[in-house]
Amino acid sequence: MLDQLTIERIQSAAQITDVVSDFVTLRKRGVNYVGLCPFHEDKTPSFYVSPAKNICKCFACGEGGAPVHFIMKHEQLTYYEALKFLAKKYGIEVKEIELTDEQKQAQGDRESMFILNGFAQKIFSSNLFEHLEGKTIGLSYFKERGFREDTIKKFQLGYSLEERDAFTKQALNSGYKKEYLEKTGLSIIREDGYTIDRFRGRVIFPVHSLAGKVVAFGGRTLKKDDKTAKYVNSPESEIYHKGNELYGIYLARQAIVRHDRCFLVEGYTDVISMHQAGIENVVASSGTALTQGQIRLIHRFTSNVTVLYDGDAAGIKAAVRGIDLLLEAGLNIKVVLLPEGEDPDSFARKQNASSFIDYIKKNETDFVRFKTGLLIEDAGNDPIKKARLINEIVDTIAIIPEEIIRSVYIKECSSLLDTDERILVRAISKKRKEVAGQKIKPGQQSNDPLAENKEDIENQVRGRNRPDEFSTSTVSPSGYPFDSFEKAILHFVIRYGEQILYSTEATEDQESVSVRVAEYIIRDLEQDELKLENPTYRRILEEASERCKQEDFIAERYFLNHSDPEINRIAADLVSDKYPLSKIHSKLKKVEEEVDRLVELVPYEVLNYKDAVLKKRMDDLNYQIKSAQEQNDTEKSTKLISELSLLWQESKKLLAKHLGERIILKF
Ligand code: ATP
Ligand code: MN
Repeated sequence: MLDQLTIERIQSAAQITDVVSDFVTLRKRGVNYVGLCPFHEDKTPSFYVSPAKNICKCFACGEGGAPVHFIMKHEQLTYYEALKFLAKKYGIEVKEIELTDEQKQAQGDRESMFILNGFAQKIFSSNLFEHLEGKTIGLSYFKERGFREDTIKKFQLGYSLEERDAFTKQALNSGYKKEYLEKTGLSIIREDGYTIDRFRGRVIFPVHSLAGKVVAFGGRTLKKDDKTAKYVNSPESEIYHKGNELYGIYLARQAIVRHDRCFLVEGYTDVISMHQAGIENVVASSGTALTQGQIRLIHRFTSNVTVLYDGDAAGIKAAVRGIDLLLEAGLNIKVVLLPEGEDPDSFARKQNASSFIDYIKKNETDFVRFKTGLLIEDAGNDPIKKARLINEIVDTIAIIPEEIIRSVYIKECSSLLDTDERILVRAISKKRKEVAGQKIKPGQQSNDPLAENKEDIENQVRGRNRPDEFSTSTVSPSGYPFDSFEKAILHFVIRYGEQILYSTEATEDQESVSVRVAEYIIRDLEQDELKLENPTYRRILEEASERCKQEDFIAERYFLNHSDPEINRIAADLVSDKYPLSKIHSKLKKVEEEVDRLVELVPYEVLNYKDAVLKKRMDDLNYQIKSAQEQNDTEKSTKLISELSLLWQESKKLLAKHLGERIILKF
């Protein structure tokens, strides 16, 4: 638990562009920044960052908010964890208040697991450099492999002692819980209590998340017998989802942005050797086929991927596998086959950065061309094989989301395959329709970028909100009949809740009284016995009116940083919204600043709301009157009519109030 002062200090230090750009490549657009949204499969930049408002927002999926909420969502942290994360980033000292048991529970497993992994990494590293066994076995192995000491330190490599449970004992003695040793997979604990260190007798490769936290380990055995697996990895856990991590991303991301290219290799040693040769924009999928999550991670930093694989048959197969996924994501893929018998690790050890890059430049092939060439070689002159080959190429090209790129490939492949271009065009569009059709089966969630209709839907969504500034329409319709009216009111509560709407003049026996926006709204509604329908809106209005007299209360800041994510979300939506110019505004020649016109705009929106509520009541009454008349229930209909006339009077009063306060401008 953090004290309020610290929370505020963190909130004011955290700059949204700074926080977001640790994870997303941002480009300036007008006064804002844009980038690919990290929270959904984004092919064109939908993620907007507003430095002025200190918030971010995705116009396609709606995610976003203040820096702390971005971190919560991105790093999967709780509110307090995210604040601490930011505190660390900005070097703010965090004083923790003693936690209640409940809060401790909520703080949760994840934090404990990260802490334990951090501890383990330090122990393994110190084994490597300080323990006799580590030095003689582990360190000398790495050195033999050609890893320099600075490289070893950069990647925080380590060594886990041979003794069956040396690490587990050490961790337990230092106060770490068995539960987390098991959850992180560092220890394997049998039911009878027999405990084994998962990585015993192995050299250690810690796996860092994008933010640099240790989420897992890989351990390589140094024994030469066939019975032990060469590599052992941490199991999946609450903090480690293999499919969402890329080995090396933490150290590579800046270089990836700088070079606008990411090299993709197979494993730990490839990444490390390439770094040592001076190539830093490199990541590995660590022994598994690429996943969507990993691709998304790359795509946040670049659209250009070069896959480096061994030049042998297995390497080529591996290169072809998984690459369709990259194409599907709209990435530009190149393939480099290394000389026979070399993997990136062994090859990098023989090169320096410039000779390696030279080799890559000379040998990189566009993936579609590469695959086509490969298949042609395979098919020879066999017409059936050739037909199958054409189908395969068609499938590959059909996956590519951009039409222009597809058409370039079609041209090229038609000449490579000696096939009429039109045939390819037709086959590809048929394929795309087929796949699109498959995607809209009821109940099936379409997350396949192939689906034309998904693109259409996305474009529609974006088209509507296409922001050169921020707009509201991503606020989800809430199902409350007066939602838009209530939202119009809330807009002022969140943006200007603490501002003084007007002050009464001081008289002899009374001091001047200032009425603030939030107060005015709640009182004015109360006068008519009205309350906002949406309970969250109501809560926002109540909190604002309770606090708006406090000296340092700023509604916008308060709600954007609210610990209730729903409130925060609503605030972010309303703050990021360019005030929709209503008819009145746009008919005025000079559009004044909203903030200067609060005294007209706020009462206007409140009246608008009341008016809508009244109209609805009158509609309901009219309906009831009609059915009473149809049933010849004169008594009932008379009663209802008199109610209606009361409402009419009220509505006239409302109108008078409009006029009286000169709120209605020239329409
Ligand atoms: P060798 O010294 O025999 O070449 P190596 O440690 O280089 O062994 P390779 O078998 O060449 O390992 O594997 C190539 C790459 O793939 C290495 O970078 C390794 O980190 C990675 N790798 C291999 N198997 C696994 C695995 N099971 N899990 C994660 N990564 C793996
Ligand atoms: Mn190897």
